[in-house]
Amino acid sequence: MAEGESSNMSMDMETSDDDQTQWSDPSVMFGPRCWKCFIPKTFFTCKNCGKCYHRKCALMYEGFPSPVFEKKSLQDAMIEETPTPILMCSECIVAEQTRVPDLVNVPRSSFNSAAMRIALNIEEAFDLADLKPSNGGKEEDVEGQRECLEMIGNAYTGIRKKASGNEYISLEGLYCDYKNIRYNIVVKFGRCSQQFIAVQSLIRVTKELVNELLTCPTCYIMRINDVNSKQKGQIKPEKQVARVMTETCEKPHLVIWIKMPRFPYWPAKLLQMDDKKETAVLVCFNENKFWNVRLDVVGNDIKIYSSKCLSKSGNDRLATAIKDCNNYLNNAKKAFGRVVIPEEAGNYGGDLDKALKEMYPDFKLED
Ligand SMILES: [Zn+2]
Ligand SMILES: [Zn+2]
Ligand SMILES: [Zn+2]
Repeated sequence: MAEGESSNMSMDMETSDDDQTQWSDPSVMFGPRCWKCFIPKTFFTCKNCGKCYHRKCALMYEGFPSPVFEKKSLQDAMIEETPTPILMCSECIVAEQTRVPDLVNVPRSSFNSAAMRIALNIEEAFDLADLKPSNGGKEEDVEGQRECLEMIGNAYTGIRKKASGNEYISLEGLYCDYKNIRYNIVVKFGRCSQQFIAVQSLIRVTKELVNELLTCPTCYIMRINDVNSKQKGQIKPEKQVARVMTETCEKPHLVIWIKMPRFPYWPAKLLQMDDKKETAVLVCFNENKFWNVRLDVVGNDIKIYSSKCLSKSGNDRLATAIKDCNNYLNNAKKAFGRVVIPEEAGNYGGDLDKALKEMYPDFKLED
């Protein structure tokens, strides 16, 4: 996948929604609310999913396929007022066929294991137990919050059920189910409600965790399969089996030393840096987790990987991590040509493409 494309792949479809939050709720309802902007007086209804849209909102999906419209009958075409029905809205099209090239050929079961992992991560990050209403508030507020939590809890259960039944075909479909929580909450409580603010932060968390997979779907899914088979006891940790992190995917990843709080310098693959260079996604060797790190916190603690170990004190887990890392670099040599690892750890200048070119000079980064 071309590098330029990958940034478009990120789930940016929320931005347009946020622009419109200054509109207040209309006191008079004119039919169902729009899926995209939440304002009533919609024009189109998707025949597939029943979502309603304004004319403009239905076509406002940047980077998405256009909706499929029903062919107008001659009679309808003569009456201006009759909207052409949408057979499938953009969300329905991508729910059935992802627009993420790296995910097209992923087996359904592997994809759904990843979807389940994302769902569990979301539930952990947006834990309903932390949001239990306090008894101090007004009775109707407490009741509203209880209802809201129940709606989210039921949706969580439904999403997990779908993932375990291998029902998801695309990441967009999964994301859509979280947006559906927000939509239902807007319908019930309105856009100026406490509940809406809460659910907006749920969507933010979801977007972040969904984006982790997009940084490198192959690596993410390899990781999940590995974690799952370990949990099922299919891979015995003490046995020397091919360790998944040591395998290469379609592209080389920058190998770094990262200093996380309370850990010694640890080898990791840097998977992505956002455009504003504020956050990075990385995965540590001999670790089960994708990390979304803020560069203003760890920025100075990212060094280019070196043959000389940067950690003075170490433990067995770190030793295994270093071994895995070196195995990855050997595999990368076979797959991508020369791999340049300096003896002394260099500073990471903040330019991922440049650093990648220096580490893997034979690999052509696509524009
Ligand atoms: Zn709209
Ligand atoms: Zn639809
Ligand atoms: Zn990868």
